[in-house]
Amino acid sequence: MEVGCYCKLYKTCVDCCRTLHYRNFKSRGKRKRRSFCKECGLKRKENLNKRVYRPTLKEGSEIKVKAKLSNKRTISYKVSYDKAIHLVAEGMAEIIHDNLIYKLYDRVTFRNMIFERDNYKCVYCAKPGTTIDHVIPYKFGGITSFSNCVCSCRRCNQIKSDIPLEDFLFYYEPFKEKSNITIEQYLSNAMNKLSEKIKEIEEVIKIYTVIIERNELNDLSKQIQNLERSLLNLKLQLIWQKKNRRVIGI
Ligand SMILES: [Zn+2]
Ligand SMILES: [Zn+2]
Repeated sequence: MEVGCYCKLYKTCVDCCRTLHYRNFKSRGKRKRRSFCKECGLKRKENLNKRVYRPTLKEGSEIKVKAKLSNKRTISYKVSYDKAIHLVAEGMAEIIHDNLIYKLYDRVTFRNMIFERDNYKCVYCAKPGTTIDHVIPYKFGGITSFSNCVCSCRRCNQIKSDIPLEDFLFYYEPFKEKSNITIEQYLSNAMNKLSEKIKEIEEVIKIYTVIIERNELNDLSKQIQNLERSLLNLKLQLIWQKKNRRVIGI
C-alpha cells in the first residue's frame, strides 16, 4: 500500500503520479484541492500559453458558455453549435474544450470598447451616442460582436429597431439634414424599391410552392410504395395458404 492511500494529508497527482502532502495541491475552496500538484499546474499553464493544445468544438452539440458578469460573478448558459462557432470566429469567446467556450468580455467592458472605437458618436447621424445597436438585429441571428455592434444614439436605435440595414439607410436618408432630394424623387425611389422587394418575394413564393408540391408528391409516392408492399404481402400469404391446402389435401 502506498503512503497516503487512505490519508487525507496526502494526495496523488494525476499528472506526475507522485504522492505529496496536500499543501502541494492548489485549493479550490470548500476543502477541495486540485487533482494535479502545483508543479504540474505550472506545466499545464505553460502548455496552454504555448497553445500546444488547440481544442475544437464538437459539431452538432449544444455548447456551454461561461461568462463573467460586470460584478465578477460567473454565469453559464447553453447556445447552439453554430452560434458558438460564430462567437469564437468573431473573437468574442475562446474554446476551452469540445463543448465549452469562455466569453472574453463582460457587458460593460464590451460596451465601453465599442463606444471608444466609434468615438462616442452615433454611426448613423453623428450625434453623441449612448446605446449599442446590432447592425444585423438579434432577432435575425445577429450576435453581440465587434463587427455587428455599433455606437448609436437612442433615436436612431429606436427607429432602426428590426429593419434591415439597407432599408433603414435608404428610408432614413431623407431625415438627415444634408439630404437634398425632392419629395417626388424620394417617393418614386421608394416605389421602385418596393416593387423590387415584391418581385423578390414573389420569386421566393414560387420556389416554395414548387418545393411544397414536390414534398406532397414524395408523400404520395411513399404511400403508393407502402400500398404496393402490403399488396405483395397479401399475395404471398395467399400463395402460402394455397400451398398448405394442397399439402393437407383440402
Ligand atoms: Zn504533479
Ligand atoms: Zn443617431
